Amino acid sequence: MMSNSPIDSKSAGRRNENLILAMLRKHGSLSQAQLCRLVGIGSSTASTIVARLREKGLLLENRGISRHRGPKPTILSLNPACCHLVGIEINPSFAIIGLFDFLGQPVDKIHIPLGPDHQPGHVVDVITRSLHKTLKDHHLGAEDILGAGVALSGSVSSEGMVHLSSPMGWRDVPLQRLLAEHFTFPVAVYSNHVRLLAEIASDPALDAESILYLNVANGVGATIFRDGRLVYGTTGRYGEIGHNVIDPDGPLCGCGHRGCLEAHISGPALAAKITHDIRCGAQTALADGLDGHPTPEKRLAAWPGAVAANDAYAIMLRDQVADLIAQSAAQAINAYDPTVVILAGYVNLLFAEAFAEAIGRHSAAAIYDFDARQIDIRPAAAGDDALINGICLAVLQDALEADW
Ligand SMILES: [Zn+2]
Repeated sequence: MMSNSPIDSKSAGRRNENLILAMLRKHGSLSQAQLCRLVGIGSSTASTIVARLREKGLLLENRGISRHRGPKPTILSLNPACCHLVGIEINPSFAIIGLFDFLGQPVDKIHIPLGPDHQPGHVVDVITRSLHKTLKDHHLGAEDILGAGVALSGSVSSEGMVHLSSPMGWRDVPLQRLLAEHFTFPVAVYSNHVRLLAEIASDPALDAESILYLNVANGVGATIFRDGRLVYGTTGRYGEIGHNVIDPDGPLCGCGHRGCLEAHISGPALAAKITHDIRCGAQTALADGLDGHPTPEKRLAAWPGAVAANDAYAIMLRDQVADLIAQSAAQAINAYDPTVVILAGYVNLLFAEAFAEAIGRHSAAAIYDFDARQIDIRPAAAGDDALINGICLAVLQDALEADW
């Protein structure tokens, strides 16, 4: 037994520091007495830890209002300016750098076009230069950054190796190592599952649910949240339903297989299909400005308008995609047993209502014991910044679980 060794009491102290920081993050501001109750420590231990955190500049102190006669209690909160966090989102056509304060509030957001060269070395170079410039613009040094997180669509090991990112066409890219060479603060690589953290932050009641988050954007995949945590699986490849093969003779997928769901309904796959169909003679308003769109997302933006204008091709395509999403959602619901299904990603959000209806229509025939369950199917609500905000939340969560 080592319970009384100095190392153990030191790590217990760090654990209590992190718990206090996590409680202040969750509750905003608390008195020392409230902190003692929430963390389960005595007042002298709390005083020692609070003094240590104050010395590090992590806490602010204000005088609260006393309900009784006597001294006003000291109210503690996190110091937003004590350090910053960096989130980096990598997409096939652009990257985004987000700078956040210690409370996770956005300070700056930089959009970086990536161009057609997706070589990992080139992408890392472009991102590194932009991040150095951003930090300089904000007069921040490496010592002011608590940590940085990078996320992209794909499977990522806990050591930051991107095993496979089909939208980027990457296989076995040591992204964490490539980025860490340029910075002295900690850099972590996540899959874009962390987007769901922003969704939960936007509706804290979701924290108690079992969530199936179906993302249909540049990639297609499911994120699972249960028992208060994201589920990554044994090898970080949990929920890769975008690579279920639905047509073995179908289009080639970025993963190397043919006919994956992703190769049919991802944004790039749909943009390519529309272009192909028009070149083969399809009559549709989506032919307007055929080549004038820099990204699949912008290319598809005209689609709901064409459906509303009764464009037969646009309606047929929406219904085809709705059927595929409904079939996949039914299989995923049978597999993962969620209480909430969130339709996320720019393709899902073009027709979230129609896709939710399609899932409902398929449910009786395709979902086990559907009538006895009350599955809440809803569109994602965390907005365009969900991924970058989710990365910041993941960095913060990791930092609060690490040593200081
Ligand atoms: Zn695939």
